[in-house]
Amino acid sequence: MNPNSNGAPQNNRRPQGRPYRGHRPLDTRVKHASTLSGSAPLPGSSSASRPGSTFSHSPRSAQQNRSVRPFRGNRPTSNATRAGQQGEVRRTDGVGGAKATGGKRRRGRTGERMRKSMTQPPLHHRMAETDPKLPVIPPLPSADAIRVIPIAGVEEIGRNMIVVETADDIVVFDAGLQFVSEESNAPGVNYILPNTKYLEDRVHKIRALVVTHGHLDHTGGIPFIMERIGNPPIYTQYLTSLMIAKRQEEFPHLPTIDMHVVKEGESFTVGKMTIKTFPVTHSIPDAMGVSVITKFGNIVITGDIKLAHVDGKPLEDEVAAWGSVGKDKNVLMVADSTNAEREGFSAPEANVHANIEEIVRNATGRLIIGTFASQFERLINVILSCERMGKKIVTEGRSIKVNIEIAQLAGLLTVQKGTIISSTEIDNYPADRVVILSTGAQGEEFAALMRIATGKHKSIRLTERDTVVFSSSVVPGNEISVQKLKDNIYRTGAKVIHYRTANAVHSTGHGNIGELIWIQQQVRPKFFMPVHGHHSMLRCHANAAVENGFPKANIVIPDNGTILDITGENTFIVQKEKAPSEDIFVDGFSVGAKQEVVIRDRQSLANDGMFVIIATVNVKTGRLRKSPDIISRGFVYLRESQQLLSEARILIKRTVEKHTENMNPLNLDYVKDELTETVSAFLMQKTNKTPMVIPVLIGI
Ligand SMILES: [Zn+2]
Ligand SMILES: [Zn+2]
Repeated sequence: MNPNSNGAPQNNRRPQGRPYRGHRPLDTRVKHASTLSGSAPLPGSSSASRPGSTFSHSPRSAQQNRSVRPFRGNRPTSNATRAGQQGEVRRTDGVGGAKATGGKRRRGRTGERMRKSMTQPPLHHRMAETDPKLPVIPPLPSADAIRVIPIAGVEEIGRNMIVVETADDIVVFDAGLQFVSEESNAPGVNYILPNTKYLEDRVHKIRALVVTHGHLDHTGGIPFIMERIGNPPIYTQYLTSLMIAKRQEEFPHLPTIDMHVVKEGESFTVGKMTIKTFPVTHSIPDAMGVSVITKFGNIVITGDIKLAHVDGKPLEDEVAAWGSVGKDKNVLMVADSTNAEREGFSAPEANVHANIEEIVRNATGRLIIGTFASQFERLINVILSCERMGKKIVTEGRSIKVNIEIAQLAGLLTVQKGTIISSTEIDNYPADRVVILSTGAQGEEFAALMRIATGKHKSIRLTERDTVVFSSSVVPGNEISVQKLKDNIYRTGAKVIHYRTANAVHSTGHGNIGELIWIQQQVRPKFFMPVHGHHSMLRCHANAAVENGFPKANIVIPDNGTILDITGENTFIVQKEKAPSEDIFVDGFSVGAKQEVVIRDRQSLANDGMFVIIATVNVKTGRLRKSPDIISRGFVYLRESQQLLSEARILIKRTVEKHTENMNPLNLDYVKDELTETVSAFLMQKTNKTPMVIPVLIGI
């Protein structure tokens, strides 16, 4: 899956009965976290007494909240602040406007028509804010209808967002991002967000953002979309709240989040909507599902799910949790489909822990475990195993360090003093006493594991006695880089254990179809909507449901933006209009939907390069003052193309002078257009390439 550091397929046991929770009283763990040597300041570590937090909470999590508090910014959520936030919203729009201006500026500098194709309307027309082609979305069909929209995340893995709307209220569930892969061919784009247009148009109805768990495909959009959706309060569990807060620190200009920490099993009411939470098993603690209570029954949104089980028999925790969801009257179930194409039950994380523990025990040299930083459970278990066996741990990679700190802050883990050592201390310990936890198992070029494998790490060198464990799957798209990484490790002579070896060292966080069907049969919904995955995954999920007796007519397989209106206990409408679902790109720190133009330019530059013509025109005579300059990048190797260049210069001179002859006054924009067309055609004919031709004519 794409979100390679966070939404990664893995699993974890249900939070209830976690062996490690509460090893230490809650109020001491913050102190502990702050004494971590060399640790960056954490939310909560330095300013637990800072006043003015806007954190509110349910009574049972009061103690937790004391340590959550120190979210950046102390602004109260008074009306004044709300107004301020509105101001922020407008400012964001202003930034968008500035970007359009930036585009114009560039045109001014490099020529009125920088694009090679004249069939496109001018840039500023295409950057228009409103698209007249947008469909008119019908209102809710009746006063008590319930609308459910998977805004995104159902035609891809990532950027999950589900909206539930009634006549009075809107609640948004999750706000993820999707990492951009090679094949999406969008150079320079970092990730894609759900389209928030539908929500922006109804911002006055938005009561809350509910976040099911801390993976980036559910939380990553938060810093980018919160202002767009009016900065509603966020409801989520404790660990997730810490992760959101940690990430929010990277965006210090944003207003404080109004964070409400809930515990699994609790209910809360926002507007007139009451939402029940329940625990689910996933690869990160504090993962939850939600039931939205409506007059036609509950809408169950599972979030990411798998089952803790032994040989296909779900553990009692699972039976109890899902059984209790099933006791309610459930009108609709909206469920994770990520692994719906896989048969049977997925490997339980407990097996992975046992296998890794064996490997840790038997290591005769140094052990390097490469894993996703988002695998909290696994990180925690490796640390506990090492402590039991008296081994030292080195953490490599910022995200692993941060997540271990967050785990301690959340009370999920207490690391004994001296367990974690710095990589510079490695040589003070026998090789078989050292375990290195590292990011970069996807072969990322600059990540710790690659540096170790290629001998570029400042203090870790691999030898034949060492073992490297790939405790992760290969995220699609990363096959080549993972292969390169493995080859580099094998070259050092170190032993490699990867996830395909007989004893699992990795398992997914998403249930296979056997688990998904079992869960559905506990929940017993009237209607069913598969989400989280590509269309094939949703389709397989639906097919399996039908094979197991679920009425086909009661299943809605959505696309991004599909509008499902539940109009009664037994009736629904799928509107033929869809909520806007066009990709929203995050490009550096700017966010926008209308960036196809920019991306097309980048694609064109990437494919065929550019060809810049700089010529000085005598405004009196219309003749060139000297032979034009030509600059090109990524097109042809100029030194070996002298013939082409001199032909091009002659053609440029002829073209300019042909058009300026008898032209009075001189219209250089017109000449530029003609020049672009002529030179593009010439280069295409000569080289079979279509570089972006950018003429710059200077009238003197
Ligand atoms: Zn997840
Ligand atoms: Zn997910």
